[in-house]
Amino acid sequence: FNTAAQVDELITPPVEIRYTKHLINGQFVEAASGKTFPTYDPRTGEVIAHVSEGDEEDINRAVSAARKAFDEGPWPKMTAYERSRILLQIADLVEKHSDELAALETWNNGKLYEQAAKIELPIFVRLLRYYAGWADKIHRLTVPADGNYHVQTLHEPIGVAGQIIPWNFPLLLFSWKVGPALACGNTLVVKTAEQTPLTGLFAAQLFHEAGLPPGVLNVVSGFGPVAGSALASHMDVDKIAFTGSTETGKIIYQLAAKSNLKPVTLELGGKSPFIVCEDADVDKAVELAHFAQFFNQGQCCCARSRTYVHERIYDEFLEKAKATALKRVVGDPFKKGVEKGPQIDSKQLEKILGHIRSGIECNATLECGGERIGKKGFFLQPTVFSNVQDDMLIAKDEIFGPVQTILKFKDTEEVIRRANKTRYGLAAGVFTKNLDTANTLMRGLRAGTVWINCFNVFDAAIPFGGYKMSGVGREKGIYSLHNYLQVKAVVTPL
Ligand code: NAD
Repeated sequence: FNTAAQVDELITPPVEIRYTKHLINGQFVEAASGKTFPTYDPRTGEVIAHVSEGDEEDINRAVSAARKAFDEGPWPKMTAYERSRILLQIADLVEKHSDELAALETWNNGKLYEQAAKIELPIFVRLLRYYAGWADKIHRLTVPADGNYHVQTLHEPIGVAGQIIPWNFPLLLFSWKVGPALACGNTLVVKTAEQTPLTGLFAAQLFHEAGLPPGVLNVVSGFGPVAGSALASHMDVDKIAFTGSTETGKIIYQLAAKSNLKPVTLELGGKSPFIVCEDADVDKAVELAHFAQFFNQGQCCCARSRTYVHERIYDEFLEKAKATALKRVVGDPFKKGVEKGPQIDSKQLEKILGHIRSGIECNATLECGGERIGKKGFFLQPTVFSNVQDDMLIAKDEIFGPVQTILKFKDTEEVIRRANKTRYGLAAGVFTKNLDTANTLMRGLRAGTVWINCFNVFDAAIPFGGYKMSGVGREKGIYSLHNYLQVKAVVTPL
């Protein structure tokens, strides 16, 4: 394995941790309880900061601030053009601080610095500019109705939105949530993930420096079952948007229903297939399938974690997939040339190792990897299994780690049936030169995104979301606007 001894000699992160308290009503404030919780560097497992620990009282304070900003503040009332200008100023300021934000993201999450700085921060900025562009283009409609009435629809902000985000893309998913909600004139309470609380606070501070009025964007750190649950069940929150696991998604749905029936958007887990057809250029297919699975240490909701390969090219594909995994350079995510950082924490590391053990026990063939690297931090070898069957746990459960499972198929109808035989439906990858095959697969696969001969294209304008238990609703593109607007029909006699 290409670890290059890089897990021991670590670079000092080129950024300071400045913000650790909740951001409520434009001020950094301690938790009402005075409590804090530690947050870690996944490269070492060492504590890097103590962060305010939110509970119900903190959520109440944040929701009150957001409510006041919605009812009395300038944000929902200002012209859409003014809102758009402030969002553009925010995008400029975030862009200016991209390197620092990326460094903090890497420090707290373990993702590659190059990836955070060159892929994720540019998407963040692009997304803010995209929704800034939308803010003043949300038109009312005139509706053809009974000839005696003039009917128009107004699109109004929904009110106070609660937004709960996970740890795998802390900043990227922060932007997916807050960008459209702010463009529509809502006020927000964001609950960041307990594993990665730092960058949301830093980004939100920049939003204020760029001109966002106090109370419009409040950020509370804390644990899901306490702070997250208080937000999802709050009677004065008008909308809840959640990204995370399917299990937690079910809880959020119930909390929303049991409290005030607030509308819910859910972006949940996946077990996405990557289908390599017999006509594929094997070298290219190996490379795409590899990145589609191992990107972000495999901690990707849309990781194509079931690689279906046509039987005619299976052996060649397998050999090359294994060689590619063995070459992947594991080490300090701050170092140039490193291709894989640590997993987020010991809990995830143990969960992934458990899945690997289950694969071995079920007689899947462990082609490479499967072991922890080094004693500190949460580094894991890129892992490849062959001879995987659909009913094995490693082919059914979301592993959320660097584990590629390779399965063999014979024909298109068969692979569509097998690929769809899952409770999830988030994404799929297809690799073929044949347009007919691509179209048949694209139509047959029950997934919110199908990438054909490409992977992980995430432009702000492309809708994202899941079929089945991968989610409810869509985010990004024009679809996110619908999530944050109420429609009012206004009827006047002619
Ligand atoms: P998680 O569900 O454990 O946590 C996500 C968020 O929910 C965190 O902020 C957490 O504090 C909060 N939370 C946990 N329990 C809660 C509760 N009872 N009430 C309210 N909030 C609660 O998920 P995770 O482990 O952080 O993230 C990984 C999961 O997220 C994976 O399943 C992954 O597929 C999914 N995900 C989906 C998308 C998507 O767009 N579909 C994107 C990224 C991640």
